[in-house]
Amino acid sequence: MSNKTLAIIKPDAVQKGYTGKIIAMIINAGFKIKAMKMTHLTKSSAEGFYAIHRERPFFNDLVTYMTSGPCIPIALERENAVEEYRKLIGATDPKKAAEGTVRKLFAVDIQLNAVHGSDSDENAEKEIAHFFSKDELLNNYSA
Ligand code: UDP
Ligand code: MG
Repeated sequence: MSNKTLAIIKPDAVQKGYTGKIIAMIINAGFKIKAMKMTHLTKSSAEGFYAIHRERPFFNDLVTYMTSGPCIPIALERENAVEEYRKLIGATDPKKAAEGTVRKLFAVDIQLNAVHGSDSDENAEKEIAHFFSKDELLNNYSA
């Protein structure tokens, strides 16, 4: 089991000013921030990040959404990070998300769902590397 995952505060949530509240929820749930930045994804970066969904009907809309404004990728560490973070954010569709989860609180619908979370240890490694170099990941920091 790995202890890393990648979160992204997506453009709609950043634009609406939810960044602070979402980061507070992440920290209160016991995650350590290993790296964080604000960035405006290019089309090719968003397409690469979501390449796994290339054949899905929502792919083009998803890329348009993810390039619509700045987003905040955050590399996180915690025991059982992938599963625990997905519990914190709730189901992809906020209608199905549990009470008190990030998506229940801040998502608009199944597409504009406020945050990303890795779905496996393997993808967490790849997704963290998509945004952060080794030098940017703080290994001896425990904030
Ligand atoms: N998405 C969408 N329509 C769908 C399913 C997903 O627009 O029917 C978007 C949504 O923003 C979601 C992202 O595509 O977060 C990636 O989908 P995935 O199934 O991987 O959901 P997640 O892992 O983010 O819960
Ligand atoms: Mg996913």
